[in-house]
Amino acid sequence: MAALLELENITKTFTQKRGGKRDVQAVAGVSLAVSKGETVGLVGESGCGKSTLARLALKLLNPTAGRILFDGADITGMSGRQMLPVRRRLQAVFQDPLASLNSRMTIAEIMREPFDTHGIRLGTGLPARIRELLSFVGMENTDIQKLPPQFSGGQLQRIAIARALALEPDIIVADEPTSALDPSIQAQIVNLLLFIQRKRKISYLIISHDLDVIGHVADRIAVMYLGTVIEQGPADQIMARPLHPYTQALLSAAPTLAARRQRGWKRIVLQGDPPNPANVPSGCRFHPRCHLARDICRLITPPLRAVEDGRLVACHLAPDGTAAIGVEIGRAR
Ligand code: SF4
Ligand code: MG
Repeated sequence: MAALLELENITKTFTQKRGGKRDVQAVAGVSLAVSKGETVGLVGESGCGKSTLARLALKLLNPTAGRILFDGADITGMSGRQMLPVRRRLQAVFQDPLASLNSRMTIAEIMREPFDTHGIRLGTGLPARIRELLSFVGMENTDIQKLPPQFSGGQLQRIAIARALALEPDIIVADEPTSALDPSIQAQIVNLLLFIQRKRKISYLIISHDLDVIGHVADRIAVMYLGTVIEQGPADQIMARPLHPYTQALLSAAPTLAARRQRGWKRIVLQGDPPNPANVPSGCRFHPRCHLARDICRLITPPLRAVEDGRLVACHLAPDGTAAIGVEIGRAR
C-alpha cells in the first residue's frame, strides 16, 4: 500500500519556562506512516505526546527535527498558503466538538466555512450540499440555523465529522474523537467513523488513550510512551499478543477484552509515577514502571526493531522474553 502520510523521525521540543528554562521533548524521534485506505491507531497515556504528534501530523505545529511527507511530497517546511491544497485532503476531528466548533456561528456557517476557505463556490447548491453532508453522518433533520450549544456532544461530533468530510479528504486525523462523549455515544461515533471509511475509502490516524477503541477501529496500532513509539504492528496481532510490557499492561487494564476472559488472565498494575516528559528516565524510558526491568534496561535504550513480520518493538526482552512473560502472567494468581 502506498503511504499517504509519513512522519519520518519526528521530534518536537518545547521550551518550558516555568521553574527555570529547560527543553522538554514531547515527541522524540517518531516514525509512522499511514497508507491509503488504512486506519492507524495511536495509543498511549495522557502526557505521552500523542496530541502533539497529532498536531504535527496536521501541520498545526512544526517539528523541531524530522520530515513530514504527504502523498510523497515533503510538506515539512510548507507555509500556510503552500499547505492549502494539502489541507483540503488532510482534515481533523478533535476531542471536544463544543470547543472545536465556534459557538457563535450557526451550523450553516460552520458547514460552509471549509468551502469558503478553499474558494469553492457552490452558489445555490450550497444548502443541498450541507444537507447531504449532515445526513451522511446521521444528522438529516438538523436545523442549520441553530448554534452549537443547542446540540448534544454526540450530535456536535457528528457535525464536526461532516465538516471534516466537506472537502472529500483522503485522510482524517482524529485526536480522541470519542473521549469527551458519554460512553453510550462513543460506540455510535466509532461506528460512524467505520461506516464513513467503508463508503469513502479514506485513511484515518486515530489517536486515543483507549486501547479498546483503537483495537476496534485500527488496522495497525502504534503504542506511544514518553514521546516514543515502543510497539507497532497489525492491530489483531497486538490485541491478541502484545510484545511490549507496557502494551501488555495497557491491554490487561482494558475492561472488555477477550484477554480478560482467558484463563490465567491477570491485571498488570503499572508501578511508579505516570510518565513526565520533563523527566525522562535513562535507558528504557519505561524501566521505572516495568515489572521485568533489569540492569541493562536502566543503561541501554532498546531500539524499535523488527521482531517478526510487520511487528516492531522496543524492549530488550522481546519477543522471546515477553513470550516468557506471557507464561509468567498466566501462572501468577
Ligand atoms: Fe521493561 Fe527492560 Fe523491556 Fe524496557 S527494555 S520494557 S524496562 S524489560
Ligand atoms: Mg491529548
